[in-house]
Order: sequence, then C-alpha cells, then structure tokens
Amino acid sequence: MRWAILGGGLTGVTLARLLAKKGEDVVVLEREATIGGLCRSRTTEGFTFDTGGSHIIFSRDTEILSFMRDVLGDNRDERRRNTKIFYKGNFVKYPFENGLSDLPKEDCFFCLNEYIRTLIAVEKGETPPPRNFREWIYATFGRGIADLYMVPYNEKIWNYPAEKMSLHWVDGRIPRPPVEDIVKSAIGIETEGYTHQAVFSYPVRGGIEALVRAMAAPVQDRIVTDFEVASVRKEGGGVIVSDGTESIEADRCISTIPVQHLLACMDGVPDACRKACERLRYNSLISVCLGITGEVAEYSWLYVPQHDLGSFNRVSFPSNYSTDVAPEGCSSILAEITCNEGDAVSALSDDEVVDHVVEGLVRMGLIESAESVVYRAVEREDFAYVVYDLEYQDNIETVRTYIRDQGIDLVGRFAEFEYLNMDACIRNALEFVKAVP
Ligand SMILES: Cc1cc2nc3c(=O)[nH]c(=O)nc-3n(C[C@H](O)[C@H](O)[C@H](O)COP(=O)(O)OP(=O)(O)OC[C@H]3O[C@@H](n4cnc5c(N)ncnc54)[C@H](O)[C@@H]3O)c2cc1C
Repeated sequence: MRWAILGGGLTGVTLARLLAKKGEDVVVLEREATIGGLCRSRTTEGFTFDTGGSHIIFSRDTEILSFMRDVLGDNRDERRRNTKIFYKGNFVKYPFENGLSDLPKEDCFFCLNEYIRTLIAVEKGETPPPRNFREWIYATFGRGIADLYMVPYNEKIWNYPAEKMSLHWVDGRIPRPPVEDIVKSAIGIETEGYTHQAVFSYPVRGGIEALVRAMAAPVQDRIVTDFEVASVRKEGGGVIVSDGTESIEADRCISTIPVQHLLACMDGVPDACRKACERLRYNSLISVCLGITGEVAEYSWLYVPQHDLGSFNRVSFPSNYSTDVAPEGCSSILAEITCNEGDAVSALSDDEVVDHVVEGLVRMGLIESAESVVYRAVEREDFAYVVYDLEYQDNIETVRTYIRDQGIDLVGRFAEFEYLNMDACIRNALEFVKAVP
C-alpha cells in the first residue's frame, strides 16, 4: 500500500519510519526546504537555537522515552533540571508549589493558608465543581498560589483569560503536588515536583532537530521537501495530493499539517465545518535567540509571569543543555513570547522585539547590558500552542469527523489539534501504525 504523509515534522517522519519498517510504501510531503516543523533548529555563527522555542526530551511514557533515546544514540546529553520562577525579584523553585519557602514570608503564608482553607472547603463539599480553568486553579491550589503565580503565568502563556478556557486537559499536564509537599515546601524542606521531567535529555549536536533527523534517517529517500500541499482529493479508491504543479497518487493519506491548512486544500467542505475550524483558537510564537559573551546563570529555564518585565513568558538557557550549542567563551538565551495576529507585540519588527527582550533581561539581572549580546535572531511560528477554549470540544469534533469521513487520517499536534508534546506525537504515530492491518 502507498501512503502519502502530509508534513515532515516529528510526527510525519516518525509515521514514515514506522510504516516503512512494516513494509509499507511511504512518501512524506513537506512544505519547507527542511524537515522538523516545530522541532527545527538553526545553527549560525556557532550558535544553535531551536526555532520553535526551547525543547527538551522527557516523558512519563517509558517506552517512548527509550525509543527517543535509542534513536538519538550517543548524540545525547542528560541534565538535571534547575528551573525557577522569577517572582518579585526572587528565583523561586519550580514548580511554584515546591518553592514556597523561596517567597517573601507574607506571600508564603498567604499561599499555604489559602491552600489549606481551600482543601478543607473542598473536603467538606463546600466548593462547587470547577467549570473552567480559572475555577480549577482556585479549587486546586487556593487563592494564594492562584493569584501570585498560576493565573498570571497561565494567562500570559495562553494569551487568553483563564475563565474562558476549558479544564478537560489539565490532568497530567499541570503538576498537582501532594499536600505534604506543599507543607514541606512552605517550611523549607526540599521537595521535587513534576519528577518525570527532573532529569531531561538534549542532543549534544544539532539542537532538537537532531532527533527528527535521526528519526528520518532510514526513510530519507522517501521525503520530498519544498512541496506545499495545495489540494487533496479522493479519486477512485485512493487520493491525489498536489502542490499545484506535481501530483502524487496514494492509497491512503495521513495528515500531520494543521487542520486549518488541510481544510484549505479540500473542496466541498461544509460551512459548519469551516466555521468550526475558524473558531479553533491557537497561539503563535516569537522566539528571540540571543548569543551572549561570557557565561549565563546556571538555570535550565525560567518562567516569567510578570508583564512589567516584558512579554516573554519563558527564558531558556540552551548552552546549559549542551556545551556544543554556543561557541567557546559564549553562552545563549532563548526567550519565548506567545501572541496572536493583531497583538501589539506581533506588530514589532525583529529589532524592536530583540530590544524589548534584552531590556527585560537586563532588568532581571540575567545579562549585564545590551553590549553582552553578540548574536541575535528572531524566529516566528504561526502554529505553536493549541488553546483549549470553552467551545473547543464541539468545534474539534465537527472538524475531525468531517476530515475522517473523507478518508484522511489525522496524527500530530496541529492535525489532531491537541496539546501534544513530542512523546505524545510519537506515541500517537506508533498506535496509528500498530492499528494498520
Ligand atoms: C514553544 C514550544 C516548546 C515545546 N517544547 C517541547 C518540549 O520541551 N518537549 C516536548 O516533548 N515537546 C515540546 N513541544 C511540542 C513539540 O514541538 C511538538 O509536539 C512537535 O514538534 C509536533 O510535531 P508535529 O510533526 O505534529 O507538528 P509540526 O512540527 O507542526 O509539523 C508539521 C509540519 O507540516 C508542515 N506543513 C504545514 N503545512 C503544510 C503544507 N500545506 N504542505 C506540506 N507541509 C506542510 C510544516 O512545515 C511542518 O514541518 C514544544 C512546542 C512549543 C511550541
């Protein structure tokens, strides 16, 4: 059987590798000149940056974690997470609930007291079940942790009000510590949260794209780049995929490209489906990549809930993941800004957005001055984060049902339109291929 796989990101190349191993005939069609999608990395002037934001390899899915490690082979380094939240000038241990004793004493008391009050109220059945993400945060963490960190940080990264977000996705994604951990953390006894990420891997050379390249190695000759899928139509028992110039015939088609792109390639899409698709919310991303002379702090990454320091929600230090990603005597910083078309920050030029970030980093004390920056680049991704708003489940159901009824399978982050990390993309590819008779 011949399979056309739309998109050469991590999901597309994993599907190709697994299907080919099963003896299937595959072709991957990728719009850009290189594979990788959100996991692309760029090396310039000796600095390697992940262009779709900072990536690390971790998973609670032990089978997939071993698979990723095997695929990378010896091009892999392992690091212990040293991550903080920048709060009122303090570096608070991540996750926030595990770092309460790093807070000013009044704030620590506020968080602990409100956490206990909420716990008692929930136990007594005095708290109605949460109906949205904001209510879930308050019911889970109490007003202290919610007001000081969880709500401001989440509204910054999601670029959307928490009360307009659904809560069906939070379990397993947002750390929920045991009560003892919160009490211990408030009185200063060391605890570790989100433990499956406490040690993470990263390629020594080539940034996160090295994982995609290693995954693609056995099917390299089955990948067509610079092929932007423009139409997908059924013909006979199969499908014809075209970029407007060249047509490719296949028996089956799997799409890993954003559903928004796929629907635009299909004729006769009902109005209800198009409208549901238009209503699916997502965030775009601006990555600001900075090469720094000398060393940076020893952190893995920092979360920045405050707006007054800048629009960036996370600052990572790639040169602390691998010593090969910055030239001798230099280090690197990657700041991420989530945004939507029309936001003030999206309208900034690359130079303006770099200045904005550098100013914030200087104020945070992470770099001495703009003179420390010896390399700068800005990368933009249209599709970075799925936003689970309150209408999400209805809208995605309409879109998926229509596409699957057309005989096209959907696997991957923006094809399924789910908050999938690399491990989940690989897991879904694996399960898809397993189900092929
Ligand atoms: C800021 C950020 C940080 C992240 N950090 C982590 C992390 O630390 N760990 C982790 O496990 N995961 C992380 N992720 C998630 C990870 O990036 C995704 O799970 C993964 O890259 C999704 O792969 P994909 O192949 O499904 O989609 P994509 O990477 O989006 O690939 C889709 C591909 O389709 C191509 N395409 C689009 N339209 C067309 C068309 N018309 N024709 C042909 N090709 C087309 C695109 O060019 C792209 O190559 C992060 C994501 C973001 C945004």
